Amino acid sequence: MADEKSVVQEFKLDPDCELRFEVESKNEKVTLELKNGLAEVFGTELVKGKKYEFTAGAKVAVFTWQGCTIELVGKTDVSYVAKETPMGLYLNCHAAMERMREMAEKDDTRGPITMIVGPCDVGKSTLCRILLNYAVRMGRRPIFVDLDVGQGHIAIPGTVGALLVERPSNIVEGFSQQAPLVFHFGHKTPQTNVTLYNLLVTRLAEVCSDRLQANKKAKASGIVINTCGWVKGDGYKLLTHAAQAFEVDAILVLDQERLYNELVRDMPDFVKVVFLPKSGGVVERSQAQRSEARDQGVREYFYGSRTPLYPHSFEVKWNEARLYKIGAPVLPASCMPLGMKAEDNLTKLVAVTPGPSLLHHLLSVSFADSPEDDVVQTNVAGFVCVTNVDVERQTFTVLSPQPRPLPNTVLLLSDIQFMDSH
Ligand code: ADP
Repeated sequence: MADEKSVVQEFKLDPDCELRFEVESKNEKVTLELKNGLAEVFGTELVKGKKYEFTAGAKVAVFTWQGCTIELVGKTDVSYVAKETPMGLYLNCHAAMERMREMAEKDDTRGPITMIVGPCDVGKSTLCRILLNYAVRMGRRPIFVDLDVGQGHIAIPGTVGALLVERPSNIVEGFSQQAPLVFHFGHKTPQTNVTLYNLLVTRLAEVCSDRLQANKKAKASGIVINTCGWVKGDGYKLLTHAAQAFEVDAILVLDQERLYNELVRDMPDFVKVVFLPKSGGVVERSQAQRSEARDQGVREYFYGSRTPLYPHSFEVKWNEARLYKIGAPVLPASCMPLGMKAEDNLTKLVAVTPGPSLLHHLLSVSFADSPEDDVVQTNVAGFVCVTNVDVERQTFTVLSPQPRPLPNTVLLLSDIQFMDSH
């Protein structure tokens, strides 16, 4: 019997078709190679003859406008060719955005600000990636904004951020994360602190607007915004707030007609609301898979993916740590100091006493020089993870991409935990 690991599959794709495959089993590797023709993965062109290696968790679509031959080596859990895809509609969106960019360039105005919304697992992140890739392939320099704190595609889960996209995403690893702008939120759903979430979205929108003004090419290229899958009730309010804060020109609604109708009703006339079907290839993830994807994101932050990273590990004395969290419990109005609203507590910087409960928690390293600065609205330089707490010696150990930081660094505690198994 043939060794399952060396299974070779060849696929001949007609124009406008898509090969979809998944790698599920741990320690399994699947190599993809374009043998003939032209093809792309989520908007990035494949190089003919180059081998791309995918590992467990990968869910991939290789699309071709012109037709191609693809070879897969290794054990896939699913692999099939689909003739029906929404890629033509997605390309139309890109074309409409491109027309707006041309006008913006001519008149020295701002290019399109596009927000992508929809419930969980409809391909929002993937559509952002496709639109951004098509834009950079046309020589544009769009900004990618990620408001999805659950996955955190720009840094790690529990953050919101922005990234100037200067080259197409890597087929395997996604967008290069050079110099992203990241804010600490500290929870895996906006629900935990809606007031803080909205404050950070407003702040991020301001910074992005400044960046567009400062960079002519980015200004004409505009912004593509990814959002959370929480679209009902208060979740819907977050979306309309984000639309307002970023002054969006267009909202692309994936899959849900109800959400589409609500936005058509509530958005001002100058905001184009467009309904788009989701791709049949988008795979629904279980709670466990979502949490595994979160872990994977953090693991890659510390250890890298294709190119390995070698994080540092060092001890911090409890009495030297400047540790804070954002948000104190809301008190009844009658208990608040005069002139303060109960909600103000939700965006307050609160000192945290180190102790055993820190174990496995992620900490954001703030760019703020001191807790007297506006730490909440200051972006973060990176993250460390608490891997050990020594009560006797009153120290904790952290995993960190950088060597020991300055002793007066402000650290922000996140709800999100990561078990370092290295
Ligand atoms: P959302 O952002 O709405 O939660 P994602 O864009 O993250 O959804 O998509 C969910 C998963 O489906 C991802 O792992 C992605 O790689 C995969 N996926 C997206 N589009 C396709 C497709 N056409 N074929 C196969 N897998 C896909």
